[in-house]
Amino acid sequence: MNQYNYEEIDIIKTAVNPFYRIMKIHLYLIDGLLIDTGPRIRKFNLIRAFRSKDIRQVAVTHSHDDHAGMAHWISEHFSADIYCHEKALPSLNKSALSPWYRRLFSSRHININVKSYPDIIRTPEHEFLPIATPGHTSNHVCLLEPDKGWLFSGDLYITPYPKVFLKHESINDYIESLNKLMSYNFDILFCAHEGVIHDGKEMLKRKLDYLLNIRRDVTELHQAGFTDREIKKRLFPDKVRLELMSFGLFSRLNMIRSCYRE
Ligand SMILES: [Zn+2]
Repeated sequence: MNQYNYEEIDIIKTAVNPFYRIMKIHLYLIDGLLIDTGPRIRKFNLIRAFRSKDIRQVAVTHSHDDHAGMAHWISEHFSADIYCHEKALPSLNKSALSPWYRRLFSSRHININVKSYPDIIRTPEHEFLPIATPGHTSNHVCLLEPDKGWLFSGDLYITPYPKVFLKHESINDYIESLNKLMSYNFDILFCAHEGVIHDGKEMLKRKLDYLLNIRRDVTELHQAGFTDREIKKRLFPDKVRLELMSFGLFSRLNMIRSCYRE
């Protein structure tokens, strides 16, 4: 666990998983607004960090546990409004069901205070515009601070040149979301896994161009009758570390199939 600042932003950085320390998650706290909450598996470290903070609002970029996992704990210990995309509401509320041993003594479900995003999130010094940006998940949201040119990009960016996807990631949605973001002004990305990225808009443009090329190449080969495995051999011949480390949860074949699935 490591904490530092970027201008007035408090950044909490921790390994996503204690057994796989290479992948980090960054939580951003500005003016009482916490962007993403961290994974439940890091609970003890995160609670130690949260206790000294003044958390008044929480923006969850999407429903994966490394982003939404601590929302429940925060709702029990802070009187904070917690926001997520309306499509993420069922999964955030489900994770808030009280554990079985508490239900023995009370029929009450823990009331997690999650709401769908308002048009604008206001803090004393800033305004944040939630922008629906599906691709990584269908319930993904980025937050733009237009005066500062800051974009809190959740898991939309991570790398401009991805070679592996989760099963439900959608290349078409990524392309549409990236196109949409090109119409906004921003300069710095606050990526949940990679931290602060300068020239953020340029980096997202690179990702957009790359994905357009990949989609075109895969679609052409698919229409010419190549199998997914043949396409993989041609376009992504090298082994990908994340694919090995995730036991295929992230895979090149998922990415290839997403190009012609929809
Ligand atoms: Zn994610």
